[in-house]
Amino acid sequence: MNMQTSVNEQLHVFEELESEVRGYIRSFPTMFTKALGSKMWDKEGREYIDFFSGAGALNYGHNHPLLKQKVLEYLQSDSVVLSLDMATPAKEEFLQQLNEVILKPRNLNYKVMFPGPTGTNSVETALKLVRKVTGRQTIISFTNAYHGMTLGSLAVSGNAVSRKGAGVQLNNTIFMPYEGYFGDDVDSITFLEKYLADNSSGVELPAAIILETIQGQAGLKVASPEWIQKVEQICRRYDILLIIDDIQAGCGRAGTFFSFETVGVDPDIVCLSKSLSGYGLPLAITLIKPEYDIWAPAEHTGTFRGTTPAFVTATETFNFWKDPSFEKDIQQKGEKTRRFLNDIVEKYPTLQLEVRGRGLMIGIAGSVSGFGGKVSAKAFQRGLILDKCGPDGEVAKLFPPVNTDEEVLEKGLHLLEESIAACVEE
Ligand code: PMP
Repeated sequence: MNMQTSVNEQLHVFEELESEVRGYIRSFPTMFTKALGSKMWDKEGREYIDFFSGAGALNYGHNHPLLKQKVLEYLQSDSVVLSLDMATPAKEEFLQQLNEVILKPRNLNYKVMFPGPTGTNSVETALKLVRKVTGRQTIISFTNAYHGMTLGSLAVSGNAVSRKGAGVQLNNTIFMPYEGYFGDDVDSITFLEKYLADNSSGVELPAAIILETIQGQAGLKVASPEWIQKVEQICRRYDILLIIDDIQAGCGRAGTFFSFETVGVDPDIVCLSKSLSGYGLPLAITLIKPEYDIWAPAEHTGTFRGTTPAFVTATETFNFWKDPSFEKDIQQKGEKTRRFLNDIVEKYPTLQLEVRGRGLMIGIAGSVSGFGGKVSAKAFQRGLILDKCGPDGEVAKLFPPVNTDEEVLEKGLHLLEESIAACVEE
């Protein structure tokens, strides 16, 4: 039996019974049966290095032993597994530890809202709240932004195919150019400034500006601290609220717990999800400056806001952050990866490659459309799982777990280079 026949046989149930909307199974067509740390295995026993990390939801790797132990103990004890927003010790400890270990040492003071379990739930609540606080309707977001797939989040996201999927008009949003949108010679912040300063520009005063400090899906575009600070200054000048969507860049991916810590801005609202539970269990929060926490009781609600095993694993991940060497290690691995990618850029000049990103939110962009997808396909054949991103799929996106050991990281990087070399040979 050849390999293709065996794959088709393994996956026929998905083909027959699952909707056409399925995505990643098409890029990584095999039956995954086991995962540990930075590795996955399929039904045939084939080993893969995972530079995908559940699209950034498994920053601490698969089945981290400490998290596994905690969640198993919790389940064994017949503790409450779903509590909506009733009180449980698991939630109490999560709130306390988030405050003590993550927020306070960073001089951050937020009330914590549980918006529902996914990233888009967090963005939806942020948008609702800023509208309620300011009485304004419009939200400014940025070109190429990705904030989620439900109507409100989709309205502030750029991708044309996803937007079309809404089937209705996506209203009350204005897109402004992200840093670098018009090339390096144009300071895009001047557009935002001018539109707001001119009271006949046609651009309404918005309730909020929503921003990714590093645009993930847009192709790992990093905004400079100066640019982000200017966005914040504009917010302060016009009484606009600043929402930072840290769903992808947060929880250590960019080298610090929050991506904005090193930038020197003080967002009014922060959206967090993906790797927050650290174990792949759905969990999202919306962090709100106390003065804007004007929700009426149960004004926003939802069933899955109290999945306690996710609180248990999340609380355990905060312990990693107590040791300053944890984030130093991520930064060093990020630098090592960057050096490796810079060498690749030099080795393959005909591909006109460019390194993008920050920390371990990093990738390599090709000058041709679809480069990232091509690299991803070649990498998969070689036992490396990595995603593509960018409006034209031009970026190969490297998201190894942040605690990947050096040896696995190096092996993965060499497989990446082989995959890129294979693109040149074609
Ligand atoms: N915001 C950002 C920046 C994201 O990267 C994502 C997911 N890729 C979301 C929001 C939406 O998260 P979810 O898929 O959990 O709804």
